Amino acid sequence: MKKTIILGSVAFDAIETPFEKTDKIIGGAGTYICFAASYFSKPHALAVVGGDFPQEYISKLEQKGIVIDGIQIKKQEKTFFWSGKYFDNMNQRETLITELNVLEHFDPIVPDSYQNADYLMLGNLSPIVQRQVIERLTKRPKLIVMDTMNFWMDILFDELLQTIALVDVITINDEEARQLSGEYSIPKAAQKIMAMGPKYVIIKKGEHGAIVFYKNKTFYAPALPLETVIDPTGAGDTFAGGFIGYIAQQDKTDFETIKNAIVVGSALASFTVEQMGTQGIENRTQTEINERIAAFKTLTSYTL
Ligand code: AMP
Repeated sequence: MKKTIILGSVAFDAIETPFEKTDKIIGGAGTYICFAASYFSKPHALAVVGGDFPQEYISKLEQKGIVIDGIQIKKQEKTFFWSGKYFDNMNQRETLITELNVLEHFDPIVPDSYQNADYLMLGNLSPIVQRQVIERLTKRPKLIVMDTMNFWMDILFDELLQTIALVDVITINDEEARQLSGEYSIPKAAQKIMAMGPKYVIIKKGEHGAIVFYKNKTFYAPALPLETVIDPTGAGDTFAGGFIGYIAQQDKTDFETIKNAIVVGSALASFTVEQMGTQGIENRTQTEINERIAAFKTLTSYTL
């Protein structure tokens, strides 16, 4: 299996939706990415947690075949904590609490066993930390993917541009693409972002799916229309995990593979939103995943 490094937060989340409210549960972008990628590849997690993070949660990751050598445990500190609340239409989210804790001074130490990785997924973290990981790898992976968000555009714009210049693929949501590029039109925004460095620009549109731009080509994968949406937390991260995991499994980075990876990412994200927290993505069977992917084919095929 191809070695895939996943940088991202491993965290406590507390989530409130119109249906349910959780206490502190396992969360974090890195957790969702690793769970999703684990169905196709061997994720090597790169993260930091505090002494309060239960061993039981770390074991959960290990049981899914995720390599945890790169998860630092800062015994005297507290784990990153995020809390969010959704409103009736589930598209609107309010962040209630962000306690950076261990993430405030996160120094991403890359274990020797992670060197020579084939693929690198940089989950949504400070662009400085994301760049440190790229710089600390002795050999450039075959594909570097990064996720980011408006928060970093607001406070570390120049650093963000420097990191974007180093990656092959960026995943970003539509409003953030507009903010980053200064263009309202999504195709124009994508072209401007491509000019910043990435060959592939993937623009996520939440419940309306995702579009990838590559040179002058475009591909759009809708999201599956689901009867039950319980908790959208981590959907974008799950998408990224399915995306990188599939690419690592195929060990190819051409446009056709990227298109398939977007369908796989979207299929996995559909599991995440159906249950609270990581529950929906933790324990899927290969048959369930194949059925979801098949549902995408049916949804979008024509005989015209
Ligand atoms: P998403 O729903 O894709 O925006 O991702 C939600 C996940 O991102 C949650 O599990 C949070 O723990 C994590 N998260 C939220 N804010 C941050 C942040 N500033 N840095 C790192 N991870 C974060």
